[in-house]
Amino acid sequence: MFSLTRRDCLKTAGLALGFAAAPALFGRAAERRVWRADPFSLGIASGSPSANGFVLWTRLAPEPESYDPSTPAGMSGESVPVAYEIAGDPLMRNIVRRGTATADPHFGYSVHLEIAGLNPQRPYWYRFMSGDAQSAVGRATTLPAPASSPQSLRFGFVSCSNYEHGYFSAYRHLADEEPELVLFLGDYIYEYADTRPDVVRKHSEGMEADSLSTYRNRYAQYRLDPDLKRLHAVTTAMMTWDDHEVQNDYANEASQDFAEPAVFLHRRAEAYQAYYEHMPLRTSARPNGSAMRLYDRFRYGDLVEFSLIDGRQYRSREACYRMGFGGGHFETNASCPERLDDGRSMIGTAQETWLFDGLSKSRARWNVIAQDVLMAQLKVRNQTGEATFDTDDWDGYPASRQRLLQHVHDSTVSNPIVIGGDIHSYWANDLKLDFDNPSSPTVATEFVGTSITSHPPPYEFLIKTLPDNPHVRFMESRMRGYVSVELSPGTMTTRLRTISDASDPNASISTLKTFVVESGKPGAVAA
Ligand code: FE
Ligand code: CA
Repeated sequence: MFSLTRRDCLKTAGLALGFAAAPALFGRAAERRVWRADPFSLGIASGSPSANGFVLWTRLAPEPESYDPSTPAGMSGESVPVAYEIAGDPLMRNIVRRGTATADPHFGYSVHLEIAGLNPQRPYWYRFMSGDAQSAVGRATTLPAPASSPQSLRFGFVSCSNYEHGYFSAYRHLADEEPELVLFLGDYIYEYADTRPDVVRKHSEGMEADSLSTYRNRYAQYRLDPDLKRLHAVTTAMMTWDDHEVQNDYANEASQDFAEPAVFLHRRAEAYQAYYEHMPLRTSARPNGSAMRLYDRFRYGDLVEFSLIDGRQYRSREACYRMGFGGGHFETNASCPERLDDGRSMIGTAQETWLFDGLSKSRARWNVIAQDVLMAQLKVRNQTGEATFDTDDWDGYPASRQRLLQHVHDSTVSNPIVIGGDIHSYWANDLKLDFDNPSSPTVATEFVGTSITSHPPPYEFLIKTLPDNPHVRFMESRMRGYVSVELSPGTMTTRLRTISDASDPNASISTLKTFVVESGKPGAVAA
């Protein structure tokens, strides 16, 4: 076990025969630590970009899956200085910034280093150092200046990486593309342990994560994956979450298993803390009890504005929440009139106001609403032929969806695009002002990425719903993968990228389908 008081640290350094002095630029305490195991085992990440900087992340974890809550990942004691360098070149020759960050013991010895003052729209390279240990070199990108007119952007979006359901080859292939930005749209981890025999690899504890130490271990296990680690190292992330970062189908303070709200909020606080500890987020996102401000906006010059939405923390309780029906379930209009209540919201009043204002004011050519779940209506016939709707996605909040789509329709927002995940299948949808009237205007275009690994709903079930949902232009649930997007002022080209086999760690990649949206013409058109 490492003892991290300064005195012990100095003692350790003194005992280490052959200790070579690190360059004098590193802090005194940082330079003397001798690590018995790599403290950068969980890798590095960049995220939350701005036109003059980004957040650089790491977490000291010499024993990444240590289960002892009093020594997270093998760490104990006071805060630890961690030196960093930022360079203008991948070989780290032209250093533009160096300094010392802090690994905070109150947040699992994570580092959230907010960098400003860099040049817009260019890549930088960075690394961390502590004592005799040095991290890998990562690449981070600043956004273009707000008033600039960039001509192109390549970004990827991903969701639903269940470690037990396969290898993260999809992350590896996206890393190979070296996109400037990647959006994580939720289910980054899965809290539960799958008891089915066909799991590819096991969650380490073999139990459901439900406390700070078990959530931490879950993130640590995922971050040890070489493909995910590399994706974070090569690109800059924008983060939002879905349910499995806390618990399946939770809604605000309502748990699917009917825990007392106060009890569930305690669990949510610990889950949110572990999330913060592992993500390249600004300190303004630091959780305060069970609350954590995650939703955010990123402007890429006048080409595109991203609104990252939190679809879980503020939502109304799932409609017709009752014993046996805690999470998502299918309801008819007659069986659950509550679903149709005007007062229900998917994202809460404050976030709704923030989103609507942002969309109204945006001067960007493209406006991407990045969120967690399917937005298009999906009418599903039950056994007696009645139309039913899932209560966990936007169909559970139709008034909230209507307010959003009406606002998009009424405002001058240019080229609205919705992206999402959760449903473990690819979708390309026309978002209609009135989903029950095919001739009503298409106000936005929706693309949903399939899962990185997570098992899909049965294809036969989904394909049968399509005649009742003519706004769906494409659906495929049998493939795992991610989505690659190329934006220019005139077109959005969306490639549905698919891996050959999630149970093969060396899976290959191909493009399943390509869609082109032309500026000014909402709707998904196959290329
Ligand atoms: Fe999922
Ligand atoms: Ca989900």
